[in-house]
Amino acid sequence: MRIVIAQMKHETNTFSPVPTPLARFARAGDMPLAGGEAIAEYRGTGSAIGAFIELAEQSQAEIVLPIAANAPPSGPVDQTAYELIAQRICAAVADGCDAVLLDLHGAMVTERFDDGEGELLRRLREIAPKVPIGVALDMHTNLFGAMVEHADVLAGYQTYPHVDMHGTGLRAGRAILAMLRGQARPTVAWGNRRMLPHVMRQSSLDAPNRAIQARARAIEREGALAATVFVGFPHADIENAGLSAVVVTDADPVQARRWCDELLDMAWHARADFVYRPEPLQASMARARELAAHTQGAPVVLLDHYDNCASGGTMDTMAVLGAMLEAGLENAAAFAVFDPDAVQAMTAAGEGAELTLDLGGKTDMPALGLRGEPRRVTGTVRRLSDGEFRIEGPMARGERASMGPCAVLEVGGIEIAVISRHVEPFDIGALKTVGIDPRCKRFLMLKSRVHWRAGLGAYAGAVVECAGVGVCTSDYATLRFERVRRPIFPLELDAPPV
Ligand SMILES: [Zn+2]
Repeated sequence: MRIVIAQMKHETNTFSPVPTPLARFARAGDMPLAGGEAIAEYRGTGSAIGAFIELAEQSQAEIVLPIAANAPPSGPVDQTAYELIAQRICAAVADGCDAVLLDLHGAMVTERFDDGEGELLRRLREIAPKVPIGVALDMHTNLFGAMVEHADVLAGYQTYPHVDMHGTGLRAGRAILAMLRGQARPTVAWGNRRMLPHVMRQSSLDAPNRAIQARARAIEREGALAATVFVGFPHADIENAGLSAVVVTDADPVQARRWCDELLDMAWHARADFVYRPEPLQASMARARELAAHTQGAPVVLLDHYDNCASGGTMDTMAVLGAMLEAGLENAAAFAVFDPDAVQAMTAAGEGAELTLDLGGKTDMPALGLRGEPRRVTGTVRRLSDGEFRIEGPMARGERASMGPCAVLEVGGIEIAVISRHVEPFDIGALKTVGIDPRCKRFLMLKSRVHWRAGLGAYAGAVVECAGVGVCTSDYATLRFERVRRPIFPLELDAPPV
Protein backbone atom coordinates (compact mmCIF):
# COMPACT_ATOMS: atom_id res chain seq x y z
CA MET A 1 0.00 0.00 0.00
CA ARG A 2 1.26 3.43 -0.93
CA ILE A 3 0.04 6.60 0.79
CA VAL A 4 0.80 10.15 -0.26
CA ILE A 5 1.13 12.38 2.81
CA ALA A 6 1.60 16.12 2.37
CA GLN A 7 1.27 19.39 4.23
CA MET A 8 0.16 22.75 2.80
CA LYS A 9 -0.69 25.11 5.64
CA HIS A 10 -1.33 28.82 5.61
CA GLU A 11 -3.91 31.01 7.27
CA THR A 12 -4.24 34.03 5.02
CA ASN A 13 -5.08 37.43 6.48
CA THR A 14 -6.14 39.38 3.40
CA PHE A 15 -5.58 42.63 5.33
CA SER A 16 -1.96 41.71 6.15
CA PRO A 17 0.94 43.47 4.39
CA VAL A 18 3.32 40.61 5.29
CA PRO A 19 4.31 38.82 2.04
CA THR A 20 4.02 35.04 1.62
CA PRO A 21 6.74 33.74 -0.72
CA LEU A 22 7.80 30.08 -0.89
CA ALA A 23 10.59 30.61 1.66
CA ARG A 24 7.98 31.40 4.33
CA PHE A 25 6.81 27.76 4.03
CA ALA A 26 10.32 26.44 4.65
CA ARG A 27 11.85 25.42 7.98
CA ALA A 28 15.18 26.89 6.96
CA GLY A 29 16.49 28.09 3.61
CA ASP A 30 14.13 28.60 0.71
CA MET A 31 12.50 25.20 0.14
CA PRO A 32 10.00 23.33 2.33
CA LEU A 33 11.12 19.87 3.46
CA ALA A 34 10.20 16.73 1.51
CA GLY A 35 10.77 12.97 1.52
CA GLY A 36 12.78 11.29 4.26
CA GLU A 37 13.84 14.61 5.75
CA ALA A 38 10.24 15.67 6.25
CA ILE A 39 9.29 12.26 7.66
CA ALA A 40 12.15 12.46 10.17
CA GLU A 41 11.21 16.05 11.06
CA TYR A 42 7.56 15.31 11.84
CA ARG A 43 7.62 11.68 13.04
CA GLY A 44 6.61 11.62 16.71
CA THR A 45 5.51 15.26 16.85
CA GLY A 46 2.12 16.52 17.98
CA SER A 47 1.12 17.54 14.46
CA ALA A 48 -1.50 16.15 12.08
CA ILE A 49 1.19 15.19 9.59
CA GLY A 50 2.99 13.39 12.44
CA ALA A 51 -0.20 11.38 13.06
CA PHE A 52 -0.46 10.51 9.35
CA ILE A 53 3.14 9.24 9.33
CA GLU A 54 2.42 7.18 12.45
CA LEU A 55 -0.72 5.60 10.95
CA ALA A 56 0.98 4.83 7.64
CA GLU A 57 3.95 3.21 9.37
CA GLN A 58 1.64 1.13 11.58
CA SER A 59 -0.08 -0.07 8.39
CA GLN A 60 3.30 -0.89 6.82
CA ALA A 61 2.41 1.42 3.96
CA GLU A 62 4.97 3.01 1.71
CA ILE A 63 4.98 6.74 2.45
CA VAL A 64 5.45 9.26 -0.35
CA LEU A 65 5.90 12.73 1.12
CA PRO A 66 6.29 15.27 -1.70
CA ILE A 67 6.24 18.39 0.47
CA ALA A 68 5.71 19.63 4.02
CA ALA A 69 4.92 23.31 3.61
CA ASN A 70 3.83 25.32 6.65
CA ALA A 71 3.99 29.11 6.75
CA PRO A 72 3.05 31.47 9.57
CA PRO A 73 -0.09 33.49 8.76
CA SER A 74 0.39 36.51 6.50
CA GLY A 75 -1.02 38.10 3.35
CA PRO A 76 -2.18 36.21 0.21
CA VAL A 77 0.19 33.45 -0.91
CA ASP A 78 2.43 34.17 -3.91
CA GLN A 79 0.91 32.32 -6.85
CA THR A 80 4.26 30.81 -7.81
CA ALA A 81 4.66 29.38 -4.30
CA TYR A 82 1.16 27.91 -4.38
CA GLU A 83 1.66 26.40 -7.83
CA LEU A 84 4.93 24.77 -6.80
CA ILE A 85 3.45 23.23 -3.65
CA ALA A 86 0.28 22.07 -5.42
CA GLN A 87 2.27 20.72 -8.34
CA ARG A 88 4.50 18.62 -6.07
CA ILE A 89 1.46 17.06 -4.41
CA CYS A 90 -0.35 16.49 -7.70
CA ALA A 91 2.74 14.86 -9.25
CA ALA A 92 3.09 12.44 -6.33
CA VAL A 93 -0.57 11.42 -6.64
CA ALA A 94 -0.26 11.10 -10.42
CA ASP A 95 2.51 8.53 -9.88
CA GLY A 96 -0.11 6.29 -8.28
CA CYS A 97 -1.21 5.71 -4.69
CA ASP A 98 -3.89 4.03 -2.61
CA ALA A 99 -4.77 7.04 -0.46
CA VAL A 100 -3.94 10.70 0.13
CA LEU A 101 -3.65 12.25 3.59
CA LEU A 102 -3.33 16.02 3.67
CA ASP A 103 -2.44 18.31 6.58
CA LEU A 104 -4.02 21.58 5.41
CA HIS A 105 -5.01 24.73 7.23
CA GLY A 106 -8.19 25.53 5.40
CA ALA A 107 -7.95 29.32 5.08
CA MET A 108 -5.44 29.71 2.28
CA VAL A 109 -6.01 32.60 -0.10
CA THR A 110 -3.58 32.92 -2.99
CA GLU A 111 -3.11 35.74 -5.47
CA ARG A 112 -5.54 33.88 -7.76
CA PHE A 113 -7.68 31.65 -5.54
CA ASP A 114 -9.87 32.51 -2.54
CA ASP A 115 -9.99 28.80 -1.67
CA GLY A 116 -6.48 27.43 -2.14
CA GLU A 117 -7.34 24.11 -0.52
CA GLY A 118 -10.48 23.57 -2.62
CA GLU A 119 -8.46 24.20 -5.78
CA LEU A 120 -5.77 21.70 -4.71
CA LEU A 121 -8.38 19.05 -3.91
CA ARG A 122 -10.17 19.68 -7.21
CA ARG A 123 -6.92 19.08 -9.10
CA LEU A 124 -6.22 15.90 -7.11
CA ARG A 125 -9.69 14.52 -7.81
CA GLU A 126 -9.18 15.14 -11.49
CA ILE A 127 -5.93 13.16 -11.42
CA ALA A 128 -7.18 10.32 -9.20
CA PRO A 129 -11.00 10.26 -9.09
CA LYS A 130 -11.22 7.05 -7.07
CA VAL A 131 -8.39 7.45 -4.55
CA PRO A 132 -9.62 8.21 -0.99
CA ILE A 133 -8.56 11.63 0.24
CA GLY A 134 -8.49 12.51 3.94
CA VAL A 135 -7.89 16.03 5.18
CA ALA A 136 -6.95 17.46 8.59
CA LEU A 137 -7.93 21.11 9.02
CA ASP A 138 -7.44 23.96 11.49
CA MET A 139 -10.41 25.22 13.51
CA HIS A 140 -9.92 28.54 11.69
CA THR A 141 -10.85 27.02 8.35
CA ASN A 142 -13.03 29.15 6.11
CA LEU A 143 -14.88 26.29 4.45
CA PHE A 144 -15.89 26.24 0.78
CA GLY A 145 -18.00 23.63 -1.00
CA ALA A 146 -15.09 22.57 -3.22
CA MET A 147 -13.13 21.32 -0.20
CA VAL A 148 -15.99 19.09 0.85
CA GLU A 149 -16.88 17.99 -2.66
CA HIS A 150 -13.38 16.76 -3.48
CA ALA A 151 -12.43 15.03 -0.23
CA ASP A 152 -13.77 11.85 1.39
CA VAL A 153 -13.07 12.70 5.02
CA LEU A 154 -12.51 16.11 6.64
CA ALA A 155 -11.66 16.50 10.31
CA GLY A 156 -10.78 19.77 12.02
CA TYR A 157 -9.25 20.70 15.37
CA GLN A 158 -11.72 20.72 18.23
CA THR A 159 -9.55 22.84 20.53
CA TYR A 160 -8.37 26.45 20.56
CA PRO A 161 -5.53 26.74 21.62
CA HIS A 162 -4.91 23.94 19.15
CA VAL A 163 -3.66 21.14 21.37
CA ASP A 164 -5.33 18.34 19.36
CA MET A 165 -3.53 18.63 16.01
CA HIS A 166 -2.24 15.07 16.35
CA GLY A 167 -5.64 13.73 17.39
CA THR A 168 -7.18 15.44 14.37
CA GLY A 169 -4.71 13.68 12.09
CA LEU A 170 -5.70 10.39 13.70
CA ARG A 171 -9.43 11.12 13.20
CA ALA A 172 -9.01 11.86 9.50
CA GLY A 173 -6.42 9.15 8.88
CA ARG A 174 -8.23 6.33 10.67
CA ALA A 175 -11.44 6.96 8.72
CA ILE A 176 -9.51 6.77 5.45
CA LEU A 177 -7.77 3.54 6.51
CA ALA A 178 -11.16 2.06 7.44
CA MET A 179 -12.40 3.06 4.00
CA LEU A 180 -9.42 1.30 2.37
CA ARG A 181 -10.16 -1.86 4.32
CA GLY A 182 -13.77 -1.72 3.10
CA GLN A 183 -15.00 -1.12 6.66
CA ALA A 184 -16.42 2.37 6.11
CA ARG A 185 -18.20 4.32 3.41
CA PRO A 186 -17.87 7.97 4.45
CA THR A 187 -20.63 10.43 3.62
CA VAL A 188 -20.22 14.12 4.31
CA ALA A 189 -22.60 16.96 5.18
CA TRP A 190 -21.53 20.54 5.58
CA GLY A 191 -23.00 23.98 5.98
CA ASN A 192 -22.34 27.43 7.33
CA ARG A 193 -24.02 30.29 9.13
CA ARG A 194 -23.83 33.98 8.42
CA MET A 195 -21.59 34.84 11.31
CA LEU A 196 -18.01 36.03 11.83
CA PRO A 197 -17.08 35.03 15.39
CA HIS A 198 -14.44 37.32 16.91
CA VAL A 199 -11.18 35.46 17.44
CA MET A 200 -10.90 36.78 21.00
CA ARG A 201 -14.16 35.01 21.81
CA GLN A 202 -13.31 31.70 20.11
CA SER A 203 -11.30 29.87 22.77
CA SER A 204 -12.56 26.36 23.43
CA LEU A 205 -11.59 26.84 27.09
CA ASP A 206 -14.49 29.29 27.50
CA ALA A 207 -18.14 29.74 26.57
CA PRO A 208 -19.59 29.64 24.00
CA ASN A 209 -17.11 27.51 22.03
CA ARG A 210 -16.38 25.07 24.86
CA ALA A 211 -19.88 23.58 24.77
CA ILE A 212 -20.02 23.61 20.96
CA GLN A 213 -16.77 21.64 20.64
CA ALA A 214 -17.85 19.28 23.42
CA ARG A 215 -20.99 18.53 21.43
CA ALA A 216 -18.91 17.80 18.30
CA ARG A 217 -16.83 15.30 20.30
CA ALA A 218 -20.00 13.74 21.70
CA ILE A 219 -21.36 13.31 18.18
CA GLU A 220 -18.22 11.33 17.32
CA ARG A 221 -18.80 9.13 20.36
CA GLU A 222 -22.35 8.62 19.10
CA GLY A 223 -20.96 7.25 15.84
CA ALA A 224 -19.83 10.01 13.47
CA LEU A 225 -16.48 9.32 11.80
CA ALA A 226 -15.64 13.02 12.31
CA ALA A 227 -17.61 16.05 13.48
CA THR A 228 -16.13 19.52 13.29
CA VAL A 229 -17.25 23.08 13.93
CA PHE A 230 -14.97 25.64 12.32
CA VAL A 231 -15.14 29.01 14.07
CA GLY A 232 -13.53 30.45 10.92
CA PHE A 233 -10.96 33.15 10.36
CA PRO A 234 -12.61 36.57 10.09
CA HIS A 235 -9.57 38.51 8.85
CA ALA A 236 -10.06 37.17 5.35
CA ASP A 237 -12.29 39.22 3.10
CA ILE A 238 -13.52 36.28 1.04
CA GLU A 239 -17.04 35.07 0.39
CA ASN A 240 -17.07 32.08 2.76
CA ALA A 241 -15.21 33.51 5.75
CA GLY A 242 -16.89 32.64 9.02
CA LEU A 243 -18.47 29.79 10.90
CA SER A 244 -19.15 26.41 9.32
CA ALA A 245 -19.45 22.73 10.22
CA VAL A 246 -18.78 19.41 8.57
CA VAL A 247 -19.87 15.97 9.74
CA VAL A 248 -18.71 12.66 8.27
CA THR A 249 -20.74 9.52 8.92
CA ASP A 250 -20.43 5.94 7.81
CA ALA A 251 -22.94 5.60 4.95
CA ASP A 252 -25.59 7.67 6.69
CA PRO A 253 -26.12 10.98 4.87
CA VAL A 254 -29.36 11.75 6.72
CA GLN A 255 -27.71 11.52 10.13
CA ALA A 256 -24.70 13.51 8.87
CA ARG A 257 -27.07 16.29 7.80
CA ARG A 258 -28.97 16.20 11.08
CA TRP A 259 -25.82 16.41 13.22
CA CYS A 260 -24.30 19.11 11.04
CA ASP A 261 -27.43 21.29 11.33
CA GLU A 262 -27.56 20.72 15.07
CA LEU A 263 -23.98 22.02 15.47
CA LEU A 264 -24.63 24.99 13.19
CA ASP A 265 -27.81 25.93 15.05
CA MET A 266 -26.01 25.67 18.37
CA ALA A 267 -23.35 28.12 17.16
CA TRP A 268 -25.90 30.47 15.62
CA HIS A 269 -27.87 30.70 18.86
CA ALA A 270 -24.65 31.66 20.66
CA ARG A 271 -23.70 34.33 18.11
CA ALA A 272 -24.03 37.25 20.52
CA ASP A 273 -21.52 35.55 22.84
CA PHE A 274 -18.98 35.46 20.01
CA VAL A 275 -18.91 39.28 19.88
CA TYR A 276 -15.87 40.94 21.44
CA ARG A 277 -15.82 44.46 22.85
CA PRO A 278 -12.34 45.98 23.12
CA GLU A 279 -11.29 48.15 26.06
CA PRO A 280 -9.42 51.46 25.48
CA LEU A 281 -5.66 50.98 25.85
CA GLN A 282 -5.17 53.52 28.66
CA ALA A 283 -7.85 51.80 30.73
CA SER A 284 -6.01 48.49 30.19
CA MET A 285 -2.74 49.94 31.54
CA ALA A 286 -4.45 51.25 34.67
CA ARG A 287 -6.17 47.90 35.19
CA ALA A 288 -2.90 45.99 34.75
CA ARG A 289 -1.32 48.04 37.56
CA GLU A 290 -4.26 47.42 39.86
CA LEU A 291 -4.31 43.69 39.13
CA ALA A 292 -0.57 43.34 39.78
CA ALA A 293 -1.20 44.09 43.45
CA HIS A 294 -3.35 40.98 43.80
CA THR A 295 -1.59 38.20 41.90
CA GLN A 296 0.81 36.95 44.62
CA GLY A 297 3.77 37.59 42.36
CA ALA A 298 2.40 35.84 39.26
CA PRO A 299 2.70 38.08 36.20
CA VAL A 300 -0.14 40.10 34.75
CA VAL A 301 -0.25 39.11 31.09
CA LEU A 302 -0.88 42.02 28.71
CA LEU A 303 -2.10 40.72 25.37
CA ASP A 304 -1.24 42.85 22.35
CA HIS A 305 -3.91 40.97 20.47
CA TYR A 306 -4.28 43.37 17.52
CA ASP A 307 -0.77 42.42 16.39
CA ASN A 308 -0.57 38.65 16.69
CA CYS A 309 1.73 37.26 13.99
CA ALA A 310 -0.17 33.97 14.11
CA SER A 311 -3.16 35.83 12.71
CA GLY A 312 -1.12 37.69 10.09
CA GLY A 313 0.02 40.58 12.30
CA THR A 314 3.24 42.37 11.38
CA MET A 315 4.39 41.83 14.98
CA ASP A 316 6.10 45.19 14.94
CA THR A 317 3.46 47.70 16.02
CA MET A 318 4.57 49.61 19.07
CA ALA A 319 1.34 50.98 20.59
CA VAL A 320 1.02 48.55 23.52
CA LEU A 321 4.73 48.46 24.26
CA GLY A 322 4.77 52.26 24.04
CA ALA A 323 1.90 52.49 26.52
CA MET A 324 3.78 50.16 28.89
CA LEU A 325 6.91 52.32 28.66
CA GLU A 326 4.90 55.47 29.23
CA ALA A 327 3.10 53.90 32.17
CA GLY A 328 6.53 53.07 33.63
CA LEU A 329 5.74 49.40 34.21
CA GLU A 330 8.68 47.81 36.02
CA ASN A 331 9.96 44.24 36.12
CA ALA A 332 8.26 43.54 32.82
CA ALA A 333 9.03 41.52 29.69
CA ALA A 334 7.62 41.76 26.18
CA PHE A 335 7.54 39.03 23.54
CA ALA A 336 8.21 40.01 20.88
CA VAL A 337 8.96 42.75 18.35
CA PHE A 338 9.75 41.53 14.83
CA ASP A 339 12.67 43.66 13.68
CA PRO A 340 15.59 41.88 11.97
CA ASP A 341 17.46 45.18 11.47
CA ALA A 342 17.31 45.97 15.18
CA VAL A 343 18.58 42.46 15.97
CA GLN A 344 21.52 43.04 13.63
CA ALA A 345 22.34 46.34 15.31
CA MET A 346 22.17 44.73 18.76
CA THR A 347 24.28 41.79 17.63
CA ALA A 348 26.92 44.16 16.29
CA ALA A 349 26.87 46.11 19.55
CA GLY A 350 27.16 42.94 21.66
CA GLU A 351 25.77 41.85 25.02
CA GLY A 352 26.07 44.54 27.66
CA ALA A 353 26.23 47.38 25.15
CA GLU A 354 23.97 50.39 25.45
CA LEU A 355 22.42 51.69 22.28
CA THR A 356 19.67 53.87 20.86
CA LEU A 357 17.60 52.60 17.96
CA ASP A 358 14.28 52.95 16.17
CA LEU A 359 12.49 49.79 17.22
CA GLY A 360 9.64 48.12 15.31
CA GLY A 361 7.16 49.96 13.12
CA LYS A 362 8.98 49.03 9.92
CA THR A 363 5.84 47.77 8.13
CA ASP A 364 3.07 49.93 6.69
CA MET A 365 -0.51 48.62 6.92
CA PRO A 366 -2.32 49.94 3.82
CA ALA A 367 -5.50 47.97 4.64
CA LEU A 368 -5.86 50.09 7.78
CA GLY A 369 -4.55 53.27 6.13
CA LEU A 370 -1.63 53.28 8.59
CA ARG A 371 2.11 53.78 8.24
CA GLY A 372 4.51 51.82 10.44
CA GLU A 373 5.61 53.87 13.43
CA PRO A 374 8.95 52.88 14.98
CA ARG A 375 9.69 53.96 18.53
CA ARG A 376 13.06 55.42 19.42
CA VAL A 377 14.35 53.63 22.51
CA THR A 378 17.60 53.57 24.45
CA GLY A 379 18.50 50.41 26.31
CA THR A 380 21.03 47.73 27.13
CA VAL A 381 21.51 44.54 25.11
CA ARG A 382 20.89 41.82 27.68
CA ARG A 383 21.12 38.68 25.56
CA LEU A 384 21.77 37.40 22.06
CA SER A 385 20.47 34.06 20.75
CA ASP A 386 20.20 32.05 17.53
CA GLY A 387 16.47 31.71 18.24
CA GLU A 388 16.30 27.95 17.59
CA PHE A 389 14.24 25.76 19.91
CA ARG A 390 12.08 22.68 20.09
CA ILE A 391 8.47 23.22 21.14
CA GLU A 392 7.75 21.65 24.53
CA GLY A 393 3.98 21.57 24.07
CA PRO A 394 1.17 20.87 24.58
CA MET A 395 0.60 22.68 21.27
CA ALA A 396 2.75 21.45 18.33
CA ARG A 397 4.78 19.35 20.79
CA GLY A 398 8.18 18.29 19.53
CA GLU A 399 8.19 20.49 16.42
CA ARG A 400 11.22 22.66 15.75
CA ALA A 401 10.77 26.41 15.76
CA SER A 402 13.02 29.19 14.58
CA MET A 403 12.75 32.83 15.62
CA GLY A 404 15.87 33.62 13.59
CA PRO A 405 18.62 35.60 15.29
CA CYS A 406 17.16 37.39 18.27
CA ALA A 407 18.15 39.71 21.09
CA VAL A 408 16.76 41.14 24.30
CA LEU A 409 16.92 44.88 24.83
CA GLU A 410 16.22 46.19 28.32
CA VAL A 411 14.51 49.56 28.17
CA GLY A 412 13.41 51.13 31.44
CA GLY A 413 12.03 48.22 33.41
CA ILE A 414 11.07 46.16 30.37
CA GLU A 415 13.02 43.31 28.74
CA ILE A 416 11.99 43.43 25.10
CA ALA A 417 12.59 40.32 22.96
CA VAL A 418 13.35 41.25 19.36
CA ILE A 419 13.15 38.48 16.74
CA SER A 420 13.84 37.94 13.03
CA ARG A 421 11.16 35.37 12.12
CA HIS A 422 7.49 35.51 13.06
CA VAL A 423 6.76 33.19 16.01
CA GLU A 424 3.73 33.57 18.28
CA PRO A 425 4.53 33.01 21.97
CA PHE A 426 2.44 29.90 22.65
CA ASP A 427 5.25 27.82 24.11
CA ILE A 428 7.58 28.34 27.07
CA GLY A 429 10.48 27.46 24.75
CA ALA A 430 10.15 30.81 22.97
CA LEU A 431 10.75 32.70 26.23
CA LYS A 432 13.44 30.33 27.57
CA THR A 433 15.43 30.72 24.37
CA VAL A 434 15.82 34.43 25.04
CA GLY A 435 16.32 33.94 28.78
CA ILE A 436 12.99 35.33 29.97
CA ASP A 437 11.49 33.54 32.98
CA PRO A 438 7.83 34.54 33.22
CA ARG A 439 7.68 33.47 36.88
CA CYS A 440 10.05 36.31 37.79
CA LYS A 441 8.09 39.07 36.04
CA ARG A 442 5.27 41.31 37.29
CA PHE A 443 4.12 42.10 33.77
CA LEU A 444 4.42 39.99 30.64
CA MET A 445 3.36 41.46 27.31
CA LEU A 446 2.60 38.86 24.64
CA LYS A 447 1.71 39.48 21.01
CA SER A 448 -0.89 36.72 21.05
CA ARG A 449 -4.63 36.25 21.30
CA VAL A 450 -5.59 32.76 22.49
CA HIS A 451 -2.73 30.35 21.72
CA TRP A 452 -0.50 31.71 24.50
CA ARG A 453 -2.78 29.86 26.90
CA ALA A 454 -1.47 26.51 25.57
CA GLY A 455 2.02 26.79 27.03
CA LEU A 456 1.98 29.98 29.10
CA GLY A 457 -1.55 30.16 30.52
CA ALA A 458 -0.51 28.42 33.73
CA TYR A 459 1.95 31.21 34.59
CA ALA A 460 -0.56 34.07 34.39
CA GLY A 461 -1.82 35.70 37.56
CA ALA A 462 -4.24 37.87 35.58
CA VAL A 463 -4.87 38.82 31.97
CA VAL A 464 -5.48 42.21 30.39
CA GLU A 465 -6.44 42.35 26.72
CA CYS A 466 -4.86 45.45 25.19
CA ALA A 467 -6.28 47.14 22.11
CA GLY A 468 -3.16 48.23 20.26
CA VAL A 469 -2.68 48.60 16.53
CA GLY A 470 -2.52 45.89 13.89
CA VAL A 471 -4.05 43.97 11.03
CA CYS A 472 -5.68 41.42 13.31
CA THR A 473 -7.61 44.12 15.07
CA SER A 474 -10.64 42.95 17.03
CA ASP A 475 -12.43 46.13 16.02
CA TYR A 476 -14.21 45.10 12.82
CA ALA A 477 -15.20 48.73 12.21
CA THR A 478 -11.61 49.50 11.15
CA LEU A 479 -11.61 46.80 8.44
CA ARG A 480 -13.15 47.21 5.01
CA PHE A 481 -15.10 44.04 4.21
CA GLU A 482 -16.07 44.03 0.54
CA ARG A 483 -16.24 40.40 -0.53
CA VAL A 484 -17.51 38.40 2.42
CA ARG A 485 -21.15 37.37 1.88
CA ARG A 486 -23.55 39.92 3.31
CA PRO A 487 -25.47 40.34 5.44
CA ILE A 488 -23.31 38.65 8.07
CA PHE A 489 -23.43 38.92 11.86
CA PRO A 490 -22.17 41.08 13.58
CA LEU A 491 -21.47 43.39 10.63
CA GLU A 492 -25.26 43.32 10.25
CA LEU A 493 -26.88 42.56 13.56
CA ASP A 494 -30.10 41.41 11.89
CA ALA A 495 -28.42 38.98 9.48
CA PRO A 496 -30.45 35.80 8.84
CA PRO A 497 -28.81 32.44 9.71
CA VAL A 498 -28.37 31.32 6.10
ZN1 LIG B 1 -6.09 28.18 14.04
